[in-house]
Amino acid sequence: MSKNYVIGFPRIGEKRELKKVLESFWSGEVDFGEVKYVANELKKRHWAYQKSAKVEYISSNDFSYYDNMLDTTILLGAIPQRFENLEDEELYFAMARGNKEAVAMEMTKWFNTNYHYIVPEISKNTKFKLNSKKVITEFKEAKDFAVKTKINLVGPITFLGLSKSVDNSDTFLHINSVVEQYCKLLEELSLLDEEIIVQFDEPLFVKDLDSKVLSLIKPVYDKLAKVSSNIKVVVATYFEHSNEATKILVNSPIWALALDFVYGSKNFEVLEEIEASNKVLIAGVVDGRNVWKSDISKKVELLDEIAKKVSKSKILVSTSCSLLHVPFTLEYETALDSDIKSWLSFAKEKLLELKLISKLFFNEELSLEDKSQLKRNQEDNESRKDSTKIHNKKVQEELSKLKINERKEAFEDRIKAQREFFKYEDLATTTIGSFPQTQEIRKNRREYKNSLISKEQYELQIKEYIDDCIAFQESIGLDVLVHGEPERNDMVEYFGELLDGFAFTKNAWVQSYGSRCVKPPLIFGDVTRENPMTVEWIKYAQSRTKKIVKGMLTGPVTILNWSFVRDDKPRNEVARQIALAIAKEVDDLQNAGIKMIQVDEAAFKEGYPLRDENISKYEKWAVENFRLSVSKAKIDTQIHTHMCYSEFNDIIKTIEAMDADVISIETARSGNELLKIFKKVGYKQEVGPGVYDIHSPRVPSVEEMVEQIKALLEVLPKEQLWINPDCGLKTRKWPEVKQSLENMVKAVKQVRDEK
Ligand code: GLN
Ligand code: ZN
Repeated sequence: MSKNYVIGFPRIGEKRELKKVLESFWSGEVDFGEVKYVANELKKRHWAYQKSAKVEYISSNDFSYYDNMLDTTILLGAIPQRFENLEDEELYFAMARGNKEAVAMEMTKWFNTNYHYIVPEISKNTKFKLNSKKVITEFKEAKDFAVKTKINLVGPITFLGLSKSVDNSDTFLHINSVVEQYCKLLEELSLLDEEIIVQFDEPLFVKDLDSKVLSLIKPVYDKLAKVSSNIKVVVATYFEHSNEATKILVNSPIWALALDFVYGSKNFEVLEEIEASNKVLIAGVVDGRNVWKSDISKKVELLDEIAKKVSKSKILVSTSCSLLHVPFTLEYETALDSDIKSWLSFAKEKLLELKLISKLFFNEELSLEDKSQLKRNQEDNESRKDSTKIHNKKVQEELSKLKINERKEAFEDRIKAQREFFKYEDLATTTIGSFPQTQEIRKNRREYKNSLISKEQYELQIKEYIDDCIAFQESIGLDVLVHGEPERNDMVEYFGELLDGFAFTKNAWVQSYGSRCVKPPLIFGDVTRENPMTVEWIKYAQSRTKKIVKGMLTGPVTILNWSFVRDDKPRNEVARQIALAIAKEVDDLQNAGIKMIQVDEAAFKEGYPLRDENISKYEKWAVENFRLSVSKAKIDTQIHTHMCYSEFNDIIKTIEAMDADVISIETARSGNELLKIFKKVGYKQEVGPGVYDIHSPRVPSVEEMVEQIKALLEVLPKEQLWINPDCGLKTRKWPEVKQSLENMVKAVKQVRDEK
């Protein structure tokens, strides 16, 4: 048996079986027994995959019906009061999704991934009490299936560190009682077998921790590792290095440390300490975050480097993190270009890489099949190095010669020219871009994709939508109109499909939250734009009205952050290629008479590094690339951008440096609080704070929005403010949208008249 280890495996199913059965259950089509049945089949299938790939350390409790943090909240009995009358699956899904009486718990991004977890709610009075058999049941299920698993648990420090306090108390006040519950659990687990391995996931340790949190590590793991002599404790971190924690953990009685050597190369700095402590090192070398085929020999070299410091006998070869963040398998990608496919590796394929890497590293004998896999791996990686599909000399040259990287006029001059040209009023009203994606629109797109209707028929329907959308916006008196984005399925995919260097899969789904999956584009090669991507549609919309139509683009940083990005080029260089493509689109739009252009950077914040030391570098290239993407805009072309979140305090200077003429942001749920930071730093550019929340079907009243606008005016002057909803309207229904926007325009009129 190879000494190898998988941090965790995805669970949604290679055909999204879990998603489908959950959604049928929620809509009342099947009962919970059916969900359980599918879940059990999936667990067994995933164990079988790992077993047949000869993985020695396979997980249990990496499965979840919805989310592992939610499972942990239930395990520890930290149920918020509003759910206390519920039990079993009713309780579980109400916490995740809300029910008639109680709102769902909050959901937020898991570190720098696109996975979202359910945020535990903790108060001073939270009582913890072991409350679930899931961990034990799953271990037994695996054992019955002849797989002896290691058991995955969310570590207590990460659990409390990611919890939100509902009363401003310190969540770590509860560390002792949480650890006490874990100790009880470990006692129960110790009875299950002669030897039990428990993996505590502590990704919080890759952040810059304060001394208070660091001081918890030793007492907590001293306790957990001493519960029973037959329990071996693993502490797993990923996505970055965790050196501060490692230096502490080597002095505790844990058995092993799992570290990420793909995204945390600084973990190299603590190898001596690990060796001196005699701990086992679980070395994460197979990338659990990206989709490219490992270069097997390079991975073995990496392990050999590690083995110069840590005895080989103490090393287990592992994935860098759970494979949850990559799609299941390439098997269904029958339409993918065969070269591109040969460069890829998803979860199932990564298991085979792991096997081969560990065999080579431990000098085990290779089978004929291993040998041919190794040969293929070398050939595929070679072909990727100089494939003309990937490398495009023209763009590389164009970028190296590029002279203009940003707009040359200062904001003060630009805004003067723009105000003269557009003559919009103060508190100008607009929207963020998309209007409801109706059944008809989706059907139209599907039928066109499947060649059931002609291009003419398809375009005719889009034009009809645009006609209606423009007519509606005119009818309620909005100042700046949009075409509504009916031709776009998704704000990244749409552009990816029109740019070279992007590929799309049929089935490469990754869980985003609960039953929701995303299928990110693959940026496999140099990105170029051959033809305009949006000009015809926006021009058409403009031809239907005398009012200003704002063109809509997605920014380079967002396109990058929502894709699987090639790993043979630094991310900033990939972003630069995308930025150049967008710059050309901006130029084509303005030459076609579209002088107001929004370049959305919805995911700008998502790319932030986990460690403070890396932030300024990211901010620098992210800002530079945004500026490059709008660099061709003339003085009187007005550039808007949009970001959909509400935490700007730490990044306001960066936002300012992006230097968009207008930025729209999400503020409706935070009143005028968020805006204060703009005032505080003396932000000059114009700002469109959302005046109503688009995440809910509720129609806000005129009065309510008048109040909201007045609150905004307490912070920034009317000359600097735009009025718009929080975000795009594509997930809403027309009747709500019509009423809400009509009320919004009325509210603005009322405020203007009062002045
Ligand atoms: N223009 C996009 C839309 O309106 C922006 C979406 C977003 O910010 N997520 O849908
Ligand atoms: Zn948004």
